[in-house]
Amino acid sequence: MCATTCSSEVADGRFASVEPGTLSGAAERLNGLTIPGLANTHSHAFHRALRGRTQHERGSFWTWREQMYSVAERLDPDTYLALATATFREMVAAGITCVGEFHYLHHQPDGRPYDDPNAMGLALIEAARVAGLRITLLDTLYLSSGFGAPPEGAQVRYDDGSADARASRVDALTGTDCALIAVALHSVRALPSVPASALTPLANWAEGRPLHVHLSEQVAENDGCMAAYGVTPTRLLADHGLLGPLTSAVHATHLTDEDIALPGEARVRPPSARPPNATSVTASAPAAHSPTRARA
Ligand SMILES: [Zn+2]
Repeated sequence: MCATTCSSEVADGRFASVEPGTLSGAAERLNGLTIPGLANTHSHAFHRALRGRTQHERGSFWTWREQMYSVAERLDPDTYLALATATFREMVAAGITCVGEFHYLHHQPDGRPYDDPNAMGLALIEAARVAGLRITLLDTLYLSSGFGAPPEGAQVRYDDGSADARASRVDALTGTDCALIAVALHSVRALPSVPASALTPLANWAEGRPLHVHLSEQVAENDGCMAAYGVTPTRLLADHGLLGPLTSAVHATHLTDEDIALPGEARVRPPSARPPNATSVTASAPAAHSPTRARA
């Protein structure tokens, strides 16, 4: 519903009131159709370089991932800054004023840290500043190419070695009113063979901060989690205290009925926006209540 005249008050960055049909003389007037700024709650800025390049011939999420990795292998802090600035400017032009940037491209192509170990994350924060939107840097934990297997290829850029090492690196970052420093778990695939060794310190670090996760994005991920840990990805996170009011999950595509109930009980927040820079092989809603149907 649209109102022809409407006034709103903002306090501490949030709407304190919205009242149709009133306008005080001191108000700043915004002409035309006016809506609140949109939040893109799940961005991979560098995936913008894949747009229009992956939807040809046949393939799957996994073949798409190979193409994504080839981009990930080539970026450095300078080119990442340029690419992310352009991506974020597109978001601003679309009405987005805040982005949650799912950031896992941490290190040099051979896996060694940059002189500043947060150089890539700082490039994203600077890109957001230049483009003119707020950012929540979802600094992402990625320790394994699959349930304890060592990272390989481009994945060595993502790997901090341990959850404690990730925390030490990220603790050197200072947030601002326009750049919030938060944490993400890439997926249960990216956990070591003893998941508690990563999930417990991650939950401790995330206490009081936003925590974000790719959850049950792929059927193969669910199958691998059951084989490695004996539970679904959602149950694994619940058992280690990672589901709560400051948690948000994206994709959440292949969930069991219990998986659907657990985030609700924990008051997990659904992401509020389809990532505009995503490519079409990544879904963002349950495929079906039945994991069997979801394989189709
Ligand atoms: Zn994602």
